[in-house]
Amino acid sequence: MLINIDGKMCKGHAGETLMEVANRNNIDIPSLCYKKGFEGLGRCRLCLVEVKEGKRKKIVSACVYPIKDGIEVITSTDEIIKMRKDIILLLLLRSPENDYIKELAEEYGVKSPKKYKDQKNDDCILCGLCVEACEKLGTNAISFVYRGITKKVSTPFDDPSKDCIGCGSCAEVCPTNAIKLREINGTRTIWNRSFDLIQCTVCGNYYTTAESLKYVEEKLDYEEDHICERCKRKAMGSKFKESFQNIY
Ligand code: SF4
Repeated sequence: MLINIDGKMCKGHAGETLMEVANRNNIDIPSLCYKKGFEGLGRCRLCLVEVKEGKRKKIVSACVYPIKDGIEVITSTDEIIKMRKDIILLLLLRSPENDYIKELAEEYGVKSPKKYKDQKNDDCILCGLCVEACEKLGTNAISFVYRGITKKVSTPFDDPSKDCIGCGSCAEVCPTNAIKLREINGTRTIWNRSFDLIQCTVCGNYYTTAESLKYVEEKLDYEEDHICERCKRKAMGSKFKESFQNIY
């Protein structure tokens, strides 16, 4: 399939979304809730773009819109920018103290009206990426709870969850740094639960929790070597260099 994004002809295949094709072609479409490797969630709505199909024009969310052959896409028009600004204003009213949202608002020239200046801050924009990450891992320790203005992400009853392995994937994917993960003296605290951290046998740095290691070992049925990702990459780099030198 061939589609035109901002005048550039881009190849894609059936089932791919506009966001995936745009990303592969280094075309930037703003988003908070889209993460490579995840299905589009269509929650933040910042990735609105204009799609022309024959004579018809429509505004769609790029992260959930499956491409069709021959469509023409414009990622930024006056109408789209106006819509994005409205969305950013709503985000700013929810998260007025959040650095990521403030940065976005500044980029788009959005200011919060004075009468809302004392609004309570909530760093979480309810995008659901953390819940998706936890679900993908198969741990399902967190989910959306309550409805309407009280809706939030949490463990059941806000209690320390026995299903949480303290891996921190939720905090890692969060676009607004809303999930508090603290590490002090070899202990990681997240979602009201504390975990002992394991040290890398090469560099000695704390890098994961005992529960995460056990979970991976059981899932993949192999014994972990207790080496952090950084040291593993370093070792692989040296091996590659060595074999490269042996060839040439
Ligand atoms: S905590 Fe972060 S990732 Fe989870 S829903 Fe809120 S903003 Fe999204």
